[in-house]
Amino acid sequence: MSMNEQMEESEASILHTYNRFPVVFEKGEGCYLYDSEGKEYLDFAAGIAVNALGYHYPGYDEALKSQIDKLMHISNLYYNEPIIEAGAKLVQASHMEKAFFTNSGTEAIEGALKAAKKYAYERDGHADHEIIAMNHSFHGRSIGALSVTGNAHYREPFEPLMGGVKFADFNDLESVKAQITDKTCAIITETVQGEGGIYPATKEFLEGLRKLCDEKDIILILDEIQCGMGRTGHYFAWQAYGVQPDIMTCAKALGCGVPVGAFVLNKKAAAASLKPGDHGTTYGGNPFVCAAVSKVFDIFEKDQILSHVQGLTPYFEEKLDELVAKHDCAETRRGKGFMQGIVIKGRPVGDVVKKALAKGLLVISAGSDVLRLVPPLVITKEDIDKMAEILDECME
Ligand SMILES: *Cc1c(COP(=O)(O)O)cnc(C)c1O
Repeated sequence: MSMNEQMEESEASILHTYNRFPVVFEKGEGCYLYDSEGKEYLDFAAGIAVNALGYHYPGYDEALKSQIDKLMHISNLYYNEPIIEAGAKLVQASHMEKAFFTNSGTEAIEGALKAAKKYAYERDGHADHEIIAMNHSFHGRSIGALSVTGNAHYREPFEPLMGGVKFADFNDLESVKAQITDKTCAIITETVQGEGGIYPATKEFLEGLRKLCDEKDIILILDEIQCGMGRTGHYFAWQAYGVQPDIMTCAKALGCGVPVGAFVLNKKAAAASLKPGDHGTTYGGNPFVCAAVSKVFDIFEKDQILSHVQGLTPYFEEKLDELVAKHDCAETRRGKGFMQGIVIKGRPVGDVVKKALAKGLLVISAGSDVLRLVPPLVITKEDIDKMAEILDECME
């Protein structure tokens, strides 16, 4: 079958909720992907910030295969070994207290929202609590996660959503304060806004949120689904700010390719929120996905992935800044570590993305005008050079 025929066959049976790029991928190796006609692509998209270790990282496949041979699924009615290891490593990396594994980022958000509501309910017995979320945020597509997603286009067709949600402006503490009432139980924000256009939180904003939440006993939820797991050069982006959330969500690179997420609670939130019977999942944290999570943490430690990101970030930023200086269509760059965006002006960002694809480079967009670069965390200087060379041609 030709690639065109494969695409037609896919559209015949898969619900059309994505305008997919015209390529069928067959395999990956390192930081490269290969389509079904054998063409090679340098991957600066990483399956939307998921494949932090690229493809077939030494030891990763073996760990998963060995778990398949032992036990894939057992349900959360019983203990299993991989979840013990994965939980301990996640809690250690975050210096938080307790983790709940989910199947996706969206479900991690759902759990975090429930835990925050339950915390407030345990405290005052009321059932009318409010949540403050940010404009231009993205937290997922389920009704709960969509309810705290600040994007009217995603929300409108599905109204009415969950009630009691108010929106404030990201990086504007006063706008958050203006939404606080006696009923506020949680403030939720990404540490670095991803889909909204790669906006890092300012230090003043995060510190201000922490102070506000401490004063009023409000749960601070930081969504680290995209910016966490080493992407900014720290396990979790908030660690660079010295501000710890009460609850954090992670997913995407947590399992580097297997569907797994988690919400992680600090001591205070863990002690007084979800109790037996309050929350559950059949698949969540099964032995297969937890073997992946556990192995990912081992690899991050053994091969010092965080130092690699930190060490290479200045070079990555320098190369992108050169593009911004040279090309009129590249207005500005912003981001942290290996989560970078270039604002594209005067032409649709999609044009640059499509040109890059044709030239064998995968990049994605964020928001309406941002070119997003979220490569595997294991890219080399040479990969960055090649990316910059191709983008240079695409921006002419
Ligand atoms: C991707 C993403 C989600 C949703 O995760 P899914 O695994 O797609 O459900 C939530 N929050 C942020 C910040 C994300 O980037």
